[in-house]
Amino acid sequence: MSTIAHERFEAVIGLEVHAQLLTNSKAFAPVAPIYGEAPNTMVTPLCLGHPGTLPVVNENLVRYIIKMGLATNCSVAEKSIFARKNYFYPDLPKGYQISQFDTPICFDGYLDIELEEYNKRIGLTRIHMEEDAGKSIHDQDPYNTLVDLNRAGTPLIEIVSEPDLRTPQEAYAYLTKIKQIVQYLEICDGNMEEGSLRCDANVSVRPRGREKFGTRTELKNMNSFRNVEKAIEFEIYRQIELIESGGEVVQQTRLWDTSKNQTRIMRSKEEAHDYRYFPEPDLPPIIVTTELLDEIKEELPELADVRQKRFAEEYGMSEVDAVTITEDRYLADFFEEVAEAANNPKAASNLVLSDVLRVLNEQSINIKEFNVSPARLAELIKLKEEDKINSSAMQTIFDAMLDNEKSAEELAKEMNLIQVSDTGFLEELVDEIIANNPDEVERFKAGKKQLMGFFVGQAMKASKGKANPKMVTQMVAKKLN
Ligand code: ADP
Ligand code: MG
Repeated sequence: MSTIAHERFEAVIGLEVHAQLLTNSKAFAPVAPIYGEAPNTMVTPLCLGHPGTLPVVNENLVRYIIKMGLATNCSVAEKSIFARKNYFYPDLPKGYQISQFDTPICFDGYLDIELEEYNKRIGLTRIHMEEDAGKSIHDQDPYNTLVDLNRAGTPLIEIVSEPDLRTPQEAYAYLTKIKQIVQYLEICDGNMEEGSLRCDANVSVRPRGREKFGTRTELKNMNSFRNVEKAIEFEIYRQIELIESGGEVVQQTRLWDTSKNQTRIMRSKEEAHDYRYFPEPDLPPIIVTTELLDEIKEELPELADVRQKRFAEEYGMSEVDAVTITEDRYLADFFEEVAEAANNPKAASNLVLSDVLRVLNEQSINIKEFNVSPARLAELIKLKEEDKINSSAMQTIFDAMLDNEKSAEELAKEMNLIQVSDTGFLEELVDEIIANNPDEVERFKAGKKQLMGFFVGQAMKASKGKANPKMVTQMVAKKLN
């Protein structure tokens, strides 16, 4: 496939993202949506589809989706209804999922994505509520498919984008943004690998300059951000190649095969379900009053974009640093705690951006799993600020803190890293260095001021790194000027 051919075409991408909500109970039943429990224990008769059971809407499901809608500039419907999406499957005992059809509660929103070279606004068609199905397990019994209904009735929101995305990178940035927003709102943990965020990608291509969209395929089964990017990339090439060789794209649902790095057909349009949506008769409409809307607006946290600007202004952070530190809400919280406890935002951001992030990367963990508290880091910063330790000792102590509970000061003492700021001792040291290096002293006096580094270096060496370099500098300057 030549890049020339690739350049003649443009991709059109729209994403459907499902986010599993962190509510304390399921969407319509009073049982916790907890994972990892023994199969079929987190269920009520409603989850099992028993006749005579009636759903009741979880109030937080409604509040959470409105939060998401407001955070993504959506309009919120004053009145919306639930609808039944009917299909037969063993993990769906009721025979339908409760969802929303033509009256989504949130609609017509947008969010802004940032790429290296440009920013772009992506439209959101709608966000609606629905419940999850159970899980069919095909790989534990050689003869049977097992069904676990713990997940049945788990609250989800589905966020549908306009077909505004044009490249796999834009799709990746869009997903990153969605994840960031749900995490900031604390409505979903945003973990794609564990399935709490899921994404279907609709992809088509068209000759550049043509307005009409091409026929799309829908990609499923990507369980990481990278896989979404890779699957879309593959699919764009597959479609272009098909068209270039005289073929035609057929509307299909395709599965991403992680081991082969390619998409393969799952079903064609003819085999697509007709869900026979109809209004859910067992649930009243959702009415969103102005009072409720105002109340939820009040509860909205500071979102990443706003926080980023505030960090730049309040703490004098560069734009790049502010973006990095606010990318993860909990990292930003962590930074602010360190900054406040140490009363030194500059030192706090340095420590978080270089050392803390390095450790998170090395250990592949997130900030919530990081085991040094902001208070302990603040002590380390103070120790340095008070000139009790120098920068290299700070590094050593930071590394040591990762493996134990001791305070920075205890570790500094234990490892013999407390700086010597004793004037008498330092005077003696400096006198000795001056006496032993007459040539350098001559040249320094003659104007070669860069030699200061040499004198301080000598003092550090003689004191095994413990001399207070600031004091040494002052003493040398005083004695030689
Ligand atoms: P469905 O409900 O059948 O999946 P929708 O009309 O709701 O269909 O569209 C689903 C997603 O597909 C949306 O994100 C939309 O932006 C996207 N989409 C629609 N048409 C195209 C197209 N021609 N190429 C790429 N994406 C598309
Ligand atoms: Mg779809």
